[in-house]
Formats: sequence, C-alpha cells, structure tokens
Amino acid sequence: MRIGIVGAGQLGQMLGFAARDLDIECRFVDPSDNPPAASCGEVIRAPFDDPAALAALAASCDVVTYEFENVPVDALRAIEAEVPVYPPADALRHAQDRLDEKLLFGRLGIPLPGFHAIHTRDDLDTALGKLGLPMVVKTRRLGYDGKGQFVVRERADLDSAWATLGTVALIAEQWVDFDYEVSCIGVRNVGGDIAIYPLSRNVHRDGILSTSRSPVDAPSLADKADDYTRRLLTNLDYVGTLALELFVRDGELLANEFAPRVHNSGHWTIEGSDTSQFENHLRAITNAPLGSTASRGHAGMVNLIGQIPDAARALPHGVLHDYGKAPRPGRKLGHITITTRTGEERDALLDIIERNVTQYA
Ligand code: AMP
Repeated sequence: MRIGIVGAGQLGQMLGFAARDLDIECRFVDPSDNPPAASCGEVIRAPFDDPAALAALAASCDVVTYEFENVPVDALRAIEAEVPVYPPADALRHAQDRLDEKLLFGRLGIPLPGFHAIHTRDDLDTALGKLGLPMVVKTRRLGYDGKGQFVVRERADLDSAWATLGTVALIAEQWVDFDYEVSCIGVRNVGGDIAIYPLSRNVHRDGILSTSRSPVDAPSLADKADDYTRRLLTNLDYVGTLALELFVRDGELLANEFAPRVHNSGHWTIEGSDTSQFENHLRAITNAPLGSTASRGHAGMVNLIGQIPDAARALPHGVLHDYGKAPRPGRKLGHITITTRTGEERDALLDIIERNVTQYA
C-alpha cells in the first residue's frame, strides 16, 4: 500500500512515522528544499497544485491525502477520477472559506459567534452595528495562525482594518470573550465508522497554538463537542481526521473553525492515546478499522516556536519531537509531550516545562 501526501511538513512527517508502523509507504509533493517529511519517503519537488506532480502522485499511489489546508481544491478534483482523495475535496472547500464554513456550522445547528460578510467599506459599518465592539475582521481565505486578522476595538479602527485587509474577501466576527478554547478531534473511515478523541484545552499566543491539555474535566462540553464533530464528519461524508476548534464561554461552546486534517492540538495523541490521530487518519483513508481513541492518562503538549532551546533537549520528563526545520521567528519547530497519571500532575509539569522552554524564545 502506498499513499500520496500533498505537503511534506511536520504533519506529513508524523503521518510518515505512523505509516512506517503500519507498513504503508509514503510519497509526498512539496516545493521546499529538504522538508521535514523527506526522511519518510520520496518527495516530488513541485508546487502543491502542480498538475504534473499531482498526476504522478495519483498514478503511483493507492490513495491521496493532504496535510496542508491551502491546497487548491481544483487541483485535488483534477485527480479524483484517478485515485481516491481523502478528506473529500468538498470538506476542504468549506474549510478554506470562513464564510462557507460558518454557513455550514449554521446549517448543521452548531452554535457559532455572530458574523457578517464584508464586501465594501460600508459593510464594516453595518457589521459593527450588528456585532458590536470589539469585532475581528478576517480574510475569508488563506488565513492561519492568526494571520490575516485585524481586531477592531473602536469605530476609528475601521479605516485601518479596511486599508490593511480590504483588497480581498473578508468576514467580520463578533469578538468572543471566551473562558478558554478547546478542540475536538474526530476521525471517520471509508466505511463510515467514527471515533472521537477526548477534548483538548488549548492556549494560543499571538494566534499560534502554545499548549494543549487533554482530557478536559467538563463532561457536558465533551458530549456537545462530540455531537458537533459527528455532525460535521457525517454531513461532509468525511474520511480521515478532522479537528473542530471551539470557544468555551459560560459553559457553552461556540465553533471557531475546523481543519480537514490532522491537527497540532492532537499531537499529544502520539504518546497519550491508544492510537494517534496520525495512525487513525491512515487507517481511515485506507479502509481499515479505526483504532481506540482512549487516553493513556493525562496528556499535555508544549509547542516549540522560533527556536528549540537547549533546555528542551535536557528535560527529565517529556518527549521532544524535533521537526528538523531551520529556526525562524514564529515558526513551529517542534513540540514536547508529557503523559501523567493525574490532571494536577500534568498541569504542574506542563507549567514547569513551558517556563523552561519558552523563556528563551
Ligand atoms: P483563527 O485563525 O480564526 O483560529 O484564530 C486564531 C486565534 O485567534 C483563535 O484560536 C483565538 O485565540 C483568537 N480568535 C480568533 N477569532 C476570535 C474571536 N472571534 N473572538 C476571540 N478570539 C478569537
């Protein structure tokens, strides 16, 4: 069995590691020089939407998947007749456009913050009247890790928001004064079986994920998140791993966005679950039974951003995952995971590790 993966970054690398254990061969398409997944299989060096490279992938693989959300949908559709492509291109289409995504949440009865589509400068005034302050203006497409976002704190900010972002399609969202953020990772296989991981509680800094902890001690939230994730997986006829990110406010969940791929907030599953999100993604797309998503204790993860300090290599506890990428400010270079017996132990240890590995960043 050989699978094709569009993108050879760290997610591709972790898929590649999981594939080895399942005796699955991987082949990648990626434009960069020596990407993280290069050690896991042949990399066809080409842009993600290069028709010849994708055709070569389709011709030589049993199934094609992607680890990167900005793959042009049409490029995937062009190879669908040749090879199964999972997750389905339609799921990717919804995830790539924040307006489509929100309309989908609404259709599926998944609660979400108020929003307004922005086409003109006047629409920003209308949005402000509807959503109030603060309000966040986001590009509808190609945003990630908080990029392409402008927080409007007062009416006078509207002109700057428009000047900064107004050349592309936008959406305005109500600012959610959340208590905390969670994500729910679910997986559905070709046969329609679904498995859901315990919730992760996530902290972002400057729009980038900083830490995740799982499980979350909030059974009613976990039940709701499980239900919403199942609705997405079923409605999209989804195959593969998906992450739904949500805000928690006053005991209620509000959906922020979903990622049609394995997700940073699920990296703890490599050591913390019976079956990792990567292995289950591979099982899902290769028509295999899903593995158990039960936790092996209380898991935590700290992202290493910008650099990997020496302290991260000398920790008495925890597993360091170094993606082998060149250091650059704001770049995800690796992560550390821990698994403990209790939530208190996890929180105490994660705080110590976070202080040690991020003080140099
Ligand atoms: P996003 O790219 O939409 O996932 O945004 C990145 C992060 O910015 C989120 O995880 C939140 O921490 C924050 N954020 C985004 N949208 C909102 C919002 N409407 N209200 C409050 N915080 C937000």
